[in-house]
Amino acid sequence: MNIAVIGTGYVGLVTGACFAELGVHVTCIDNDEAKIGALKAGRMPIYEPGLEEIVEKNVRQGRLAFSTDTGTAIERCLVTFIAVGTPPDAEGQADLSFVKDVAAAIGKRIREYKVIVTKSTVPMGTGALIRKIIEQNLPEPIAFSVASNPEFLREGSAVEDFMRPNRIVVGTEDAQAAAILRDLYRPLYLIETPFVITDVVTAEMIKYASNAFLATKISFINEIAHLCDRLGADVHDVARGMGLDNRIGRKFLHPGPGYGGSCFPKDTQAVQALARKAGMDLRVIGAAIEVNDAQPGLMLTKIRDVLGEPRGKVAAVLGLTFKPNTDDIRESPALKIIEGLRAMGVSVRAYDPIAMEHARAALPGVEFVADEYEAASGADVLVLATEWNQFRSLDMERIKGLLRRPAIVDLRNIYEPSEMARLGFTFRCVGRRPVA
Ligand code: NAD
Repeated sequence: MNIAVIGTGYVGLVTGACFAELGVHVTCIDNDEAKIGALKAGRMPIYEPGLEEIVEKNVRQGRLAFSTDTGTAIERCLVTFIAVGTPPDAEGQADLSFVKDVAAAIGKRIREYKVIVTKSTVPMGTGALIRKIIEQNLPEPIAFSVASNPEFLREGSAVEDFMRPNRIVVGTEDAQAAAILRDLYRPLYLIETPFVITDVVTAEMIKYASNAFLATKISFINEIAHLCDRLGADVHDVARGMGLDNRIGRKFLHPGPGYGGSCFPKDTQAVQALARKAGMDLRVIGAAIEVNDAQPGLMLTKIRDVLGEPRGKVAAVLGLTFKPNTDDIRESPALKIIEGLRAMGVSVRAYDPIAMEHARAALPGVEFVADEYEAASGADVLVLATEWNQFRSLDMERIKGLLRRPAIVDLRNIYEPSEMARLGFTFRCVGRRPVA
């Protein structure tokens, strides 16, 4: 089968490369000529573990190609996935302009039956809108199907998530489209991945409901962590004690500086905006957003506590991405915390294993250094903002010798408070029992 994936970002490139790995012929399309030029020259536009190897292999074996020519790819392929961005607009609603552009381009080039599948996260009702735009652009009436196949991969483990998903959701009103998508995903069906086949609007809702629920789980444990801070309980034990209950589950109960990235912040806002338009107020999701918005400020209070008068002080910040194993800094809490520190008059020296080039433009005035130890050198506090593996076993004796004052604020709860106290650090983390 030939398929096209329009939008070669985190989702589109992973989807295209993984389908090629499963034996399908894939053309990945993007209107960003620099991105397609880089991919054609064998350079990866994003960092995602394991992706470069499968891109290189499938290009070499002739199953994966890159192009800026949307029209030709649509004509040649039975299935076209839409994987363009859906960023928030000024009111928090999903901006569908990229999706609409692609739908119009598709309509102009359909000459025979096609299946158009939305992988982008889009508001309920977008499938119907895509159908209407395609129909308006068709040169003559031709049958086509519209389906929704939301993506649940996580940046940092996207290839593994695509290849071994918890479930595949397909929304379509059309039995032919469902059969074609089932066929496309057959290798995953064979490893017993559950399929949820439903209608388009329900599939669109499943994606928003899933992301909003996960964001709520994070805000829930963050709020409990603050209560633990106040009352002297240990949130790690609380999370473990809760998470061992199968009805609750252990995942997403890690307190920290709040959720970030390109999905949870925008998707929670988008579902709230959609509900408002439908005359409803989503109170639980609203509270999750409110708690998350307050997190960077609460983290800054912890840092300020150990710094005393902040003006003229230096903070070493380790980790800039919203989570480890990605180069994505979109909505990263680390960036908000750095901006807050600078607003308090604190100089920031930052280090990240992958994302420093991206971050440079977003953080003018911040000094970027070569490693963790250079960051710590002469700083008044070391702030752990992202839990990259290489930050998990720092040489703390060396760090102590380099810092101007032995103070660490661990926003990801990587280190044990008792061990840090034993080493002579002033130590703060999130929701863990303080050591006298
Ligand atoms: P991205 O910004 O990394 O990539 C989007 C790509 O689409 C860009 O390369 C852009 O140049 C391209 N594009 C825009 N308009 C185009 C057009 N008319 N023709 C061709 N290409 C065009 O975005 P992403 O992170 O991959 O997200 C894509 C969608 O998937 C979003 O709706 C997002 O919410 C959803 N999603 C993202 C993730 C994630 O972890 N990043 C996970 C699940 C779902």
